Amino acid sequence: MAEALVLERQGVLSIRNIDLPQELGPDDVRIRIHTVGICGSDVHYYTHGRIGPFVVNDPMVPGHEAAGTVIETGSRVRNLKVGDRVCMEPGIPDPLSRASRMGIYNVDPAVTFWATPPVHGCLMPEVVHPAAFTYRLPDNVSFGEGAMVEPFAIGVQAAVKAAIKPGDTCLVTGCGPIGLMTALAALASGAGVVFITDIAAPKLEIAGRYDGIEPVNVRDENPRDVISRHVGADWGADVVFEASGFAGAYDDVLSCVRPGGTVVFVGMPVEKVPFDIVAAQAREIRMETVFRYANVYERAIALIASGKVDLKPLISGTFAFTQGVAAFERAASADPTDVKLQITMPGATAT
Ligand SMILES: [Zn+2]
Repeated sequence: MAEALVLERQGVLSIRNIDLPQELGPDDVRIRIHTVGICGSDVHYYTHGRIGPFVVNDPMVPGHEAAGTVIETGSRVRNLKVGDRVCMEPGIPDPLSRASRMGIYNVDPAVTFWATPPVHGCLMPEVVHPAAFTYRLPDNVSFGEGAMVEPFAIGVQAAVKAAIKPGDTCLVTGCGPIGLMTALAALASGAGVVFITDIAAPKLEIAGRYDGIEPVNVRDENPRDVISRHVGADWGADVVFEASGFAGAYDDVLSCVRPGGTVVFVGMPVEKVPFDIVAAQAREIRMETVFRYANVYERAIALIASGKVDLKPLISGTFAFTQGVAAFERAASADPTDVKLQITMPGATAT
């Protein structure tokens, strides 16, 4: 039995004991959880009880953005040892599947992902996880930053898919946590400048604190005009990342990308959106999609450890586990000055 944060059903969270299998296989490690970030998906399951086809029918432990310490290793584990500080990839594919063998394990139909019903997440004291999806954190990367690797990995996946070239002009539509992560990843991957759009001034203000990220409030300015001023009226951004999922943004994406440029779809619209295929064809736009990430955790950690990406200012609040329900309430209130809220587990030390 372990005391966990449990989403009992839509709108009801509690901290209580829950009996979950925690058997350590030969290729697994046991991890004492230190810090867990609250993701938009965790909040959505709390407030709506479902995301698309995934429905909370039974009590579920939320949380999939975690860092902690290895406290036990399986007999075949060679890459980790007891005492290692780590973060974990929350999706576990079938390693023998066709998708996994192709290196695209994130789209393995058999993947199980923390805190996606009916799979439990990690807001509990200990988890057992495959060592192959557990990554050691360098000493200069805090547990808080370690728990940010998961959302940052989505930005890194987007930058990899974009195949950014040195000095590229980039645009990110949407300044939520994932838009910010994408902008930071693009910048660290060689972009010359990254414009980022939103309608929420406080979110843009946070983004604008980073050198190289230029906030654009679409209430005041048309992003197309901003890009034109930068690259010329007949041209556009080399790469546009759609990170809002907002239907109206898809026209901006098309009007802002240059001929032969790249669009990366990161945001997930809740419904089908109209999209002007001919406008994309007429400029031979290359289009890429992002679903979570594969093979980028080491890259994400390297960018954080090197200092090229500083995620610390984006940790807006840290709650003790006993205040976990309050943390979810605050996340659900969607304060635009909050980027990421995190929960630390009982007994968690400072770093
Ligand atoms: Zn997440």
